[in-house]
Amino acid sequence: CGIIGILGNHAAAPLMVEALRRLEYRGYDSAGIATVHEGKLDRRRAVGKLGALADLLVDNPIKGRIGIGHTRWATHGKPTVNNAHPHQSGPVAVVHNGIIENFKELRAELADAGKTFVTETDTETVAMICAYQMEQGLSPVEAARATLAKLDGAFALCFLFEGEEDLMVAARKGSPLAVGRGDGEMFVGSDAMALGPLTRNITYLDDGDHVVVTRDGAEIFDTSGAAVQRPEKVVQLDN
Ligand code: GLU
Repeated sequence: CGIIGILGNHAAAPLMVEALRRLEYRGYDSAGIATVHEGKLDRRRAVGKLGALADLLVDNPIKGRIGIGHTRWATHGKPTVNNAHPHQSGPVAVVHNGIIENFKELRAELADAGKTFVTETDTETVAMICAYQMEQGLSPVEAARATLAKLDGAFALCFLFEGEEDLMVAARKGSPLAVGRGDGEMFVGSDAMALGPLTRNITYLDDGDHVVVTRDGAEIFDTSGAAVQRPEKVVQLDN
């Protein structure tokens, strides 16, 4: 339902929780975050209000200056911790807004390849396909692209990779997604509101775009895979 991605220079976890609070108005049943720290992917997820996630992080903090976060409004699978995003498969973590319409077909393909599922969500297939592509030797960016090419439905997605502390791949098709530019920091959000305290320099992706984000900036590609420029705006928010 709500997405935040941070490639920052400070502890990402508290910033992500704050950004998710700003997306609370959209409604949600569970929430979670993932970071990469010293090369390792780690995540925390909780059912219910963001306070539950914040409490969990007090007892069990996660470090890292890069991360993705999500508030979930369940469409496929009950609102449980296990079905909460980010979903992880091997070296890939993913947050997702929307619905992957062909997830049953994708599940069947993955099952044929010997993969087993640990959640009831459509989203898990996205992480699994991406991890599978990496097993076949593709780089994280190539694997994310190959994954996106297989997906039908309406989605905004953000990928995070083990061992990559300066890389995020995000994409949108039918669900909004914005990229925010800071000073040596970059952000991704399902709306500009989430990015309010982080930056007001916002680039909205066009439908079908994907973006490769590092702290140096964002490279945007359209549905054909061609590099494109999208206008950056200074967004005024009330708070
Ligand atoms: N379809 C996904 C799920 O049920 C994402 C739902 C959302 O947009 O929050 O987990």
